[in-house]
Formats: sequence, structure tokens, C-alpha cells
Amino acid sequence: MPRIENDIKLDFKDVLLRPKRSTLKSRSEVNLTRSFTFRNSKQSYEGIPVIAANMDTVGTFEMARALGKVRGPLGYATRSPSHQFETFHFILFSNIAASSGTGQGDFERLSEILCAVPQVRYICLDVANGYSEHFVQYVKDVRERFPEHTIIAGNVVTGEMVEELLLSGADIIKVGIGPGSVCTTRKKTGVGYPQLSAVIECADAAHGLNGHIISDGGCTCPGDVAKAFGAGADFVMLGGMLAGHSESGGEMIEKGGQQYKLFYGMSSETAMKRHAGGVADYRASEGKTVEVPFKGDVEHTIRDILGGVRSTCTYVGASKLKELSRRTTFIRVTEQLNTVFGASN
Ligand code: 5GP
Repeated sequence: MPRIENDIKLDFKDVLLRPKRSTLKSRSEVNLTRSFTFRNSKQSYEGIPVIAANMDTVGTFEMARALGKVRGPLGYATRSPSHQFETFHFILFSNIAASSGTGQGDFERLSEILCAVPQVRYICLDVANGYSEHFVQYVKDVRERFPEHTIIAGNVVTGEMVEELLLSGADIIKVGIGPGSVCTTRKKTGVGYPQLSAVIECADAAHGLNGHIISDGGCTCPGDVAKAFGAGADFVMLGGMLAGHSESGGEMIEKGGQQYKLFYGMSSETAMKRHAGGVADYRASEGKTVEVPFKGDVEHTIRDILGGVRSTCTYVGASKLKELSRRTTFIRVTEQLNTVFGASN
């Protein structure tokens, strides 16, 4: 008989952060830099842990540079195509991660790349469904072959799988199934988990084993990024919020005098056509293609996001990003914004 979990699971839109008495005088006193030492690789990281999604139209070299300028680590290597494909190829950032799937030939290609570019210290093993035994075995195999690289693995949304992946050799677990701005997994499959609860539960499981997590997907505004950190995320990964900029990939389109940039999910028909020649018969696409109004340089957006998070820290009395989750009390709400002059600002 199917089981029903009656505990309510929450999303970013269901909560606000409760303000707390604070001794901070200004946002400029807030330090957003975090330092981590990873559980299995023993490597260290220092930076502002907001990272771009490994998607064609977001995880570009230009985006990495822009994030690096404001001390974002960015740290991303984009891979294409992404979710659930059998074959992958890799695009490397000079300073960051090689991203790989688990298909035939991926292990060999990953090995070739990491041997050829020894500066790449991060490996991102990224599949839409991180729950398969095959994936767990792949994480073990990669760990055995690369004992000193930092391994990011995902995506999952529950504590027991976070633990299994960490114990199999991963250092950082990517959390999120279905929250993405161009994701249609929940619609096509009925599977998912509200992102705020997923982050709270997965962070708790990971931190118990000295592991780390990335909250991946679902952030629509700087306040959501702050909520993800408040929920316990060590890193927050952004797709849609970084789309539509000069540094984003994707074709520029002009319509009625307005410029737009194409932004598509890595399991969308657009991505599958681009990387695999089309959607295979046995599967459905699980991503959308949208046109995002062109927003200019991403630096302004990044500063807006980081400024928002700094301000959150002052409201709850956290002088460092590290203290934010300890200072967080979420209150459940039924309404977030006053939309009398429109919902967008
Ligand atoms: P966003 O920040 O846009 O809300 O979410 C970005 C995340 O959505 C990515 O990091 C990735 O995990 C996920 N994603 C990207 N493309 C697709 C897709 O086509 N289908 C699904 N299900 N998820 C996607």
C-alpha cells in the first residue's frame, strides 16, 4: 500500500526569516567568505559560495570570470549535455570542476581530462536521479581512481542518500529534484521534494558526516539565496537568476525592439537536439526553453544577490555567512510580497 508522509515539506515561498536583535551596524561588516575542508579529498576551499549552474547557457567561461571578479568561486564546469543523457562531453574551467555523467565512455573521458589538466581539482558527477545503485558505484569508482580530487555528486533530496554518497567517496552533495526554473520533472514524472525542506534535511545529514551540500535550483530572488544558506546550504547554485546576461550562453533574439536570450534546461528538447541529435524514443524531455529579457552585464545581478544576503545577515545578527543558519528561524507564511504595483520588483 502506498505510504503518505504527513509532515509538511516547505519551499522558499512558504517561509520568511524572522529578524533578530543584532549588534551589527552596517552590511559592510558582514563577511560572506567561507572556508571549507572537504571530508574525503581533504582539500580546502575559500570563497563566496554562490555558484553558476553547469548548464550550457549559464556555466560559461565568461560567467566564471564575472563571478571570480567579485570573489565568487564560481567554480563551475559546465558539461553538455546534462541530465540523464548517456553521453557527455566536458568543458573545463581553468580553475574549477570537470563535470561528468555516468554513461559509457564517461569514466575514460574524465580520466583523460583530469590527467591532461592537473589544475582541475574538482569533479562534478551529475545525474538527474542520484538514487541509482549504478550511480553510487560510479562515485566509488571515481573516488578510487582520484583519491585527492574533490567530488561533487548529485542530485538527491533526502538524508539517507546524502549519507550513502558521502560514504561512497563524495565530498559535496548536490541537492534538488525538480525545483529548477526550466525544469519540468515534477510535471512529467510527479517526483520531487520542496527545496527548503530538502536543504534542511540534507544539510543536517551531510554535516553529521563532515560533508557539504549545494542547494541546486529554485532560487528566484536574492531572498531565496539567503533562505537556502539559512536552511544550511554550504553552496547555492543558480541557473535562471544568472540567465539572460552578456556573460550567459544562448542565442540573442530580437523581438519588437526588445532583446532576449535563449535559456534552456539541459533535459529540454533544445539541449537534446544540440547534444544528442534529438529526444530518444524511450524518454520525454524534462526541461523547458524560454526567452529571457536581456539584462546586460551579470556583475550588477551578482552584487544585488550578495548585497541581499549581506542584508539578511544584518537582520538576523550574523556577522559571517557561516553564522547565518545558526541565527535562522523560519516562519511559515501564506503571503510574501505586496504585489500592488506588479510582482516583478
Ligand atoms: P534554477 O536556478 O534555474 O532554478 O535551477 C538550476 C538547476 O536546474 C540546475 O543546476 C539543474 O540542477 C536543474 N536543471 C537544469 N536543466 C534542467 C532540465 O532540463 N531538467 C531538470 N529537471 N532540471 C534541470
